[in-house]
Amino acid sequence: MDKKQIFSLWYVVLVVIVLVSLQEFIGVSHTQNLSYSEFKQALAAGQIDDVVLKEGVATGRLKADGLEAILPVAVVESLKKQGGEHRFVTVLLNDPGLIAQLDASKVRYAGVLESKWLGLLISWVAPTLIFVGIWFFVMKRMGGGMQGGMLEIGKSKARVFMQQETGVTFKDVAGIDEAKEELMEVVEFLQHPERYKRLGGKIPKGVLIVGAPGTGKTLLAKAVAGEAGVPFLSLSGSEFVEMFVGVGAARVRDLFEQAAAKAPCIVFIDELDALGKARGISALGGGNDEREQTLNQLLVQMDGFDTNRGVIIMAATNRPEILDPALLRAGRFDRHVTIDKPDLKGRRQILDVHAKNVTLAPEVDLNSVAARTPGFAGADLANLVNEATLRAAKRGKNAVDMQDFEEALDRIVAGLEKKNRVMNPMERRFVAFHEAGHALVAEFREHADKVSKISIIPRGIAALGYTQQLPTEDRYLLRKSELLDRLDVLLAGRVAEQLVFDDVSTGAENDLQRATDMARHMVTHYGMSETLGLATYDTQRTPLYLDGPALPEQRNCSERTAEVIDTEVRRLLDESRARVSATLTARRATLDVLAGVLLENEVVDRRMLDELLRAAAPGPATDASAPTVAA
Ligand code: ADP
Ligand code: ZN
Repeated sequence: MDKKQIFSLWYVVLVVIVLVSLQEFIGVSHTQNLSYSEFKQALAAGQIDDVVLKEGVATGRLKADGLEAILPVAVVESLKKQGGEHRFVTVLLNDPGLIAQLDASKVRYAGVLESKWLGLLISWVAPTLIFVGIWFFVMKRMGGGMQGGMLEIGKSKARVFMQQETGVTFKDVAGIDEAKEELMEVVEFLQHPERYKRLGGKIPKGVLIVGAPGTGKTLLAKAVAGEAGVPFLSLSGSEFVEMFVGVGAARVRDLFEQAAAKAPCIVFIDELDALGKARGISALGGGNDEREQTLNQLLVQMDGFDTNRGVIIMAATNRPEILDPALLRAGRFDRHVTIDKPDLKGRRQILDVHAKNVTLAPEVDLNSVAARTPGFAGADLANLVNEATLRAAKRGKNAVDMQDFEEALDRIVAGLEKKNRVMNPMERRFVAFHEAGHALVAEFREHADKVSKISIIPRGIAALGYTQQLPTEDRYLLRKSELLDRLDVLLAGRVAEQLVFDDVSTGAENDLQRATDMARHMVTHYGMSETLGLATYDTQRTPLYLDGPALPEQRNCSERTAEVIDTEVRRLLDESRARVSATLTARRATLDVLAGVLLENEVVDRRMLDELLRAAAPGPATDASAPTVAA
């Protein structure tokens, strides 16, 4: 017997019990209770029509007329309400003379055999069923751990959340146009799979959405399903991993079975990192068996899945770096969509979406709200509008005004500050000048890559802002002049801080590390130091195990040479710093303007940068090579 049969049996029992008691209830409700003395009086007065004698009770009918003479008014009243039937019931006492009396009064009487089946059912069958039910429940709980048939039971427990229609479209997702555009292709495929199949087009199997919490990853996946008009199946990665080995794997199988049945559809796995953590070489103690089995099952299922069936698997994570590389390989989650925290314009658009159904006072300026919420993710903004609306409602206002927004803002900013998710104004200024420094030096160095975007929106914990440079062609060789220019760009952030604030921050750590590595490489590998000449010096670090801790540097050179290497590295960095300092001092006005624009807009793209530079002094043309992002 499987679970379904058990269930229908329970239903049958329940229905029978309800029906029987209903019948009893209806019978009773149409029957007047008489005390035994009243019954005897009615009998003596010849008012009894007929009687049925059961074990301990008598039921029957009274004659309609003349009842008032023998019975209390209330009893008669309620008998009358029955509408002509005048049924009664009375509890029999030990009265041996009753039959004789009935005979004397010529009353029709009879006995019945009481049916015992209901009692039997309740006293026998129900406990048995309850016992069987408990047994199955216990087995189900233990289920997954056992092999074979018991897996079936584990399977039916998967809490796949399905929405036939998400009701969310791209209109509800604001401020992340690039991500939307990338997913448009998926929508088109789901809408017209034949078109792609005919052309033999390859559609991605898995799309990984990467972004900080609350940036709208789930929302975006739902919107894709909504736009395409397909069902949305979702499950959280953490739900796969349960206590019993094998349950997670069964759930993965089940999920894919359900998806195949619902195709075309979208399967969304939230918190992919909970299940897709790299299968580490946790040499000691075996690691997490259950998670690895589940992950393996997911990989197997994804490989075995034919995209042409119209199932697209989407997953979300905010920690892509810890994912198992196997998950990101071709044919799995090979398409990545990154969602950044929204910039000023994006925040304004998100506020618009959420304020659409809110009555705002005329003086409310959402632009200024957007300007005051740097670092807020979409969810924070949704929360802000909601909080402001609640406040207005509590005060009985007809519209949400600026004061409500102020108060909501104070509260949410305090909350976010606690979670370390917003920068204070001083930090923002530091980051703005730091990034502006990188960008300007990149612009004014002949061999540096063109800047494509500067942003001071924090990306994660490490990068508080970034300057993106895009190469225009692939490079295989780098000249010394190019390396020196790159060094300059890397140091420019720190130098700008020093120049503007006469103080420096920790924000340059990654820059300095990369600059030092580069300088060291130039000296020890590329023969680019006059003092050391053309010899190369191997300072390779060899880790103990594949991912174990690195050993201290192993030198194949003398102490003296090592000292010279260090001096040369320092010299390269010091000279670079001097060059950058000169450039930035000469362009100080432009630096100030660029940082100002950054503070205001948070993001400066190529077009804005061109305009800005044209307004200032024109710089020399730039060159291109491998991609660089200076943080
Ligand atoms: P995530 O999955 O990235 O943690 P969600 O998709 O669950 O974030 O977002 C939570 C809520 O925040 C959404 O339901 C929506 O109301 C709001 N939100 C987030 N990003 C956006 C956006 N870009 N546009 C509109 N609303 C958004
Ligand atoms: Zn930097």
